[in-house]
Amino acid sequence: MPRDIAYVALGSNLGDRDAHLERARKALAAIPQSRVIAESSIEETAPLGPVDQDKYLNQMVALETELSPRELLSQLQRIEQAAGRTREVRWGPRTLDLDIVRYETQTASDRDLVVPHPAAGARGFWRREMAQLRAMLGR
Ligand code: ATP
Ligand code: CA
Ligand code: CA
Repeated sequence: MPRDIAYVALGSNLGDRDAHLERARKALAAIPQSRVIAESSIEETAPLGPVDQDKYLNQMVALETELSPRELLSQLQRIEQAAGRTREVRWGPRTLDLDIVRYETQTASDRDLVVPHPAAGARGFWRREMAQLRAMLGR
């Protein structure tokens, strides 16, 4: 795979949210054939969807990577599981949620992987974080 830039969203609303994000950043930095090239600020947001739950801490990182979207998704799922993520309710509370928001050049449209993420343009905090990263990277 040619080198590309993946924008990965981090979210946590269960337990020590700051610690979950910090561990996640370290785990992201250790993904093979990849390196973190920019990190947005952390933003607290109200939960989405119908489930009653606590506020989230959100952040986004830019990852220069040779992994395809599919390969990156399995790395992200491994990191979520290591963070003790157990819930299976979509939009329910979780220790760690890692989403691929977009790739600079690659796309995907499978049943279990859509890139850009369908909500990429719809979530204000993702738009703000993406704008921060692009400004840092001069893109
Ligand atoms: P949302 O995706 O709307 O933010 P969510 O993060 O709560 O909701 P999850 O339960 O974490 O949803 O994920 C459901 C499924 O979404 C995952 O099993 C994964 O296969 C799929 N998925 C599809 N596209 C993506 C993507 N771009 N990034 C991460 N997961 C994705
Ligand atoms: Ca999500
Ligand atoms: Ca997710």
